[in-house]
Amino acid sequence: MTRQDPIIVWFRQDLRLADHAALSAAVESGRPVIPVYILDDAAPGAWRMGGASRWWLHDSLKSLSRSLADLGSRLILRRGESAAVLDKLGHETGAAAVYASAAYEPWARASEARIDPKLFEGATLHSFDQIRTEQGLPYRVFTPFWRACLKAEPPARPLPSPRSIPAPAGWPASDKLESWRLTPAKPDWAGGLRETWEPGEAGAHARLARFLDTGRVGSYGEGRDFPAHEKTSRLSPHLHFGEISPRQVWHAVSALPGAGDGGRQFLREVGWREFSIHLLLHAPHMPEAPLKADFEAFPWCEDAAALTAWQRGLTGYPLVDAGMRELWATGWMHNRVRMVAASFLVKHLLIHWRHGEDWFWDTLVDADLASNAASWQWVAGSGADAAPYFRIFNPTMQAEKFDPDGTYIRRWVPELARLAAAHVHVPWTAPREVLAEAGILLGETYPRPIVDHAAARARALAAYERIKKAA
Ligand SMILES: Cc1cc2nc3c(=O)[nH]c(=O)nc-3n(C[C@H](O)[C@H](O)[C@H](O)COP(=O)(O)OP(=O)(O)OC[C@H]3O[C@@H](n4cnc5c(N)ncnc54)[C@H](O)[C@@H]3O)c2cc1C
Repeated sequence: MTRQDPIIVWFRQDLRLADHAALSAAVESGRPVIPVYILDDAAPGAWRMGGASRWWLHDSLKSLSRSLADLGSRLILRRGESAAVLDKLGHETGAAAVYASAAYEPWARASEARIDPKLFEGATLHSFDQIRTEQGLPYRVFTPFWRACLKAEPPARPLPSPRSIPAPAGWPASDKLESWRLTPAKPDWAGGLRETWEPGEAGAHARLARFLDTGRVGSYGEGRDFPAHEKTSRLSPHLHFGEISPRQVWHAVSALPGAGDGGRQFLREVGWREFSIHLLLHAPHMPEAPLKADFEAFPWCEDAAALTAWQRGLTGYPLVDAGMRELWATGWMHNRVRMVAASFLVKHLLIHWRHGEDWFWDTLVDADLASNAASWQWVAGSGADAAPYFRIFNPTMQAEKFDPDGTYIRRWVPELARLAAAHVHVPWTAPREVLAEAGILLGETYPRPIVDHAAARARALAAYERIKKAA
């Protein structure tokens, strides 16, 4: 090994230059640095990246390549099984070591075990093993977990981006990004995603700045549940792809004058991301199996027609439909609406949460193994710190409370755009002449509810009684 043997920096879900401990350490070593991203579709198995994530990845890699080029470096793209690719690249370049950020998905950890890179933290506020109960056990309940996070050493200060990155004498070959075909060809379903998002580190910081500069932090507590207005940060895809680190978000919000309670509530939500990762690290089966074993015996229904109606936003419940269409159009859905739409699938339709988890995995730009699985299990009642099963959201009351004048519904369900607030949440109760005036033919231009709320609620409670008795 000589001083000129390069270090490979293996980029994964850390597509940024600032607060990137592995990159900073590689630069500080004084050796040449070879940044690489590997598209490894084999390791995740069924959790191969979904369509919306692949679209995001394409633009995020483009942005990272540009930023690296500005510092005199390059992003090498390779495709295949990560260990084999890194081994080959190591031989080609005579690399002295591989540096990487630690990841939390079970398959990513299995790859780490095979490759044995030098690992650095950065995906979470605190290091993976830092937060434990007094007995040294993992937490199963959010509130004490978050209390322990707040009591721990504050998250480390973010590292600056390197000023320049030493290049190797010769660059290894790289795939062309376009050859990976990450973006849709025909039909091109990504128009709404392109209009909504700017993947990449600059886009992530622009989102954060918009959130901080528009006073939304201070009013986060009051505003965050109302989907019609942009009151939350929309940082989730940027955090998932590691274009911004949770430490950067933490320190920016903590330093904001007047952030107050809103700031604390916002950081508590970032804490739910942290908690989801904590759960996944200690229960790697969470994406596939209920954390509460009683739920193994839950009498789920297989109902392909109802699942399709849910996926397409054609359930006849306007808030659910608006959410599902927002998801399809933009790759994102407001958290309140995610809860209502997910609850509708698992409780009103009695469809297994894994079907919902799969659909979200494919369609969300922020699809994240930990947050998605933990949230679905939370909604289904089978999770660690889940909503009690018997608390069943009424989709109409949720709509009346959180979208009182129907602005959000009208935006995403244009068939209902001409209905007044008194009817927009319950079109099936509107008088015939009101519907006619609004151009709605129930069952034709907009569906009648595919299930009756009261009957569905009773059925869900009866199903739950069965597993309770069996337990
Ligand atoms: C069924 C279901 C599935 C979900 N799947 C995902 C997913 O795949 N990926 C994902 O990032 N979030 C998921 N969430 C959580 C949440 O809906 C999103 O994180 C949030 O809507 C993102 O919007 P935001 O960035 O504006 O959030 P903000 O309100 O601005 O919150 C800031 C950050 O905190 C984190 N966060 C907020 N709420 C949660 C939460 N409940 N659980 C975990 N982290 C949270 C996110 O990283 C978010 O960007 C899911 C929620 C539900 C109910």
